Amino acid sequence: HTIGQALVNAAEQWGDRDAIVSVHQNVRLTWAGLLEQVDRLASNLIDLGLEAGDRIGIWSPNCVEWVLTQFAAARAGLILVTINPAYRLREAEYTFNKVGVRALVAAEEFKSSDYLAMVETLAPELAGSTPGHLSSAKLPTLEMAIKLGSAKRPGWISFDELAARAANGEELSRRAQTLSARDAINIQFTSGTTGMPKGATLSHHNILNNGMFVGAAQDFTADDRLCVPVPLYHCFGMVMGVLACLTHGAAMIFPSDAFEPESVLKAIEQERCTALYGVPTMFIAELSAPDFDKYDLSSLRTGIMAGAICPEPVMREVIERMHMSEVTIGYGMTETSPISFQTDPDDPLEKRVETVGRVQPHLECKMVDGEGNIVPVGTPGELCTKGYSVMIGYWDDPQKTAEAIDADGYMHSGDLATFDEQGYAEIVGRIKDMIIRGGENIYPKEIEEYLLGHPKVEDVAVVGLPDEKYGEEVCAWIRLEAGEQMSEQELRDFCRDQIAHYKIPRFIRFVDAFPMTVTGKVQKFVIREAMVAELQ
Ligand code: ATP
Ligand code: MG
Repeated sequence: HTIGQALVNAAEQWGDRDAIVSVHQNVRLTWAGLLEQVDRLASNLIDLGLEAGDRIGIWSPNCVEWVLTQFAAARAGLILVTINPAYRLREAEYTFNKVGVRALVAAEEFKSSDYLAMVETLAPELAGSTPGHLSSAKLPTLEMAIKLGSAKRPGWISFDELAARAANGEELSRRAQTLSARDAINIQFTSGTTGMPKGATLSHHNILNNGMFVGAAQDFTADDRLCVPVPLYHCFGMVMGVLACLTHGAAMIFPSDAFEPESVLKAIEQERCTALYGVPTMFIAELSAPDFDKYDLSSLRTGIMAGAICPEPVMREVIERMHMSEVTIGYGMTETSPISFQTDPDDPLEKRVETVGRVQPHLECKMVDGEGNIVPVGTPGELCTKGYSVMIGYWDDPQKTAEAIDADGYMHSGDLATFDEQGYAEIVGRIKDMIIRGGENIYPKEIEEYLLGHPKVEDVAVVGLPDEKYGEEVCAWIRLEAGEQMSEQELRDFCRDQIAHYKIPRFIRFVDAFPMTVTGKVQKFVIREAMVAELQ
């Protein structure tokens, strides 16, 4: 199937059931209503002159229009480029030009980012041009700028007007015949946790199948209602969220444009959500929301925690205090569409909280050492995945692609993991984050999990800092629970006789916030840079 065919099937099977509820916009769409709007938008995008394979960018926080654009691009055979809503001028210019964006859909404003002003700064010609005919020196491929909302602005095409325009579907049907499931359909950027984000080119076949397996692992049906606080620009939202719902007829509920713990809890109660997604830091924030106990979360059953190491105590709390008795852990990366491991509600509880489960259907994996040899059971090695979900490649970057995907077709993750005898994998950490102190390998995860056990500690990030004597030294950044106070000595006393002396953090900082990606991951390279600057 192509994603377009899957949407037609969904509208036939579950036509009058909820497809999307955007709580913050107060908008509801059924699957039939969604298909109708998508096809009108897709026809109008074709009428603007967009050809199959053209790149269309979307630069916006979560909203209904985001999903309309996602499906309209798929129906029209355009390659959707999902652009991080946190990007500013320099990153946006780089991305638009790197992938050759021909049309761009942009939100007006979000979190003090004025997207329209940024595009106009890059392309001052826009204001004087006829909508749809931009010709800009700095953004040479960009011709069509589409702004969300109905308000008019010189040079811009209004999304609402475009989506409402009467359209004849003939050209759309003709184009649907020519599309193949193996065509590229998305360029998705990685989170930028370890540096500059990379653009992974993915096909219908890659992401539609992954969405289907991810939904199946949670036993999704058309009665499920999934709360999606994770960003749509990333595979967690657009594949594990939108495409898992599409293939099972489940409804997607968007609580807010940007993550906000109270809106999530409120949306679950109001919309009787049965499933919830999040990275660990989101679940941590929801569990520590001051009014947590006021909300009725009894409708919850399942969901996914993924994206970063899932601490065991947090998993246990999610199962017990959020009623998510069937919650799963997923492991994956943008380059593998994304999920390659997922726990199963039937696994023993300890495997469900300590591991990322077993490899997903139709995928193979291996753990290798630095020379590419398979490591023995129980020994950490680099996790590599092969199969239907491996990306086509990094966009316009054959060299990076060749470094990432080996001659046998395995995608190298950069993550260290171990296997047990039954095939359950445990993620030990990123290779880049491993600390080597005086010849001892230290995995930040172990120290983080121990420190999280302190009742005053809300969240913790452990990194290695360069050290003349030992090569590296351990540094911990700590966020305390609201209203708590702690001294460095108190934390060290908590570690004494519990963890080996060389793992006890030499540098401790109590902070209000960690540097985060929009996907909610801690950017440890930023912490390292800040500490190195401070200690100089
Ligand atoms: P970048 O590649 O730009 O540095 P990123 O790797 O965070 O960013 P993503 O593709 O969003 O970009 O995330 C994939 C990574 O997230 C994996 O390689 C892994 O390090 C981490 N990850 C995902 N799920 C889990 C999990 N369940 N447990 C531990 N780590 C996870
Ligand atoms: Mg990565």
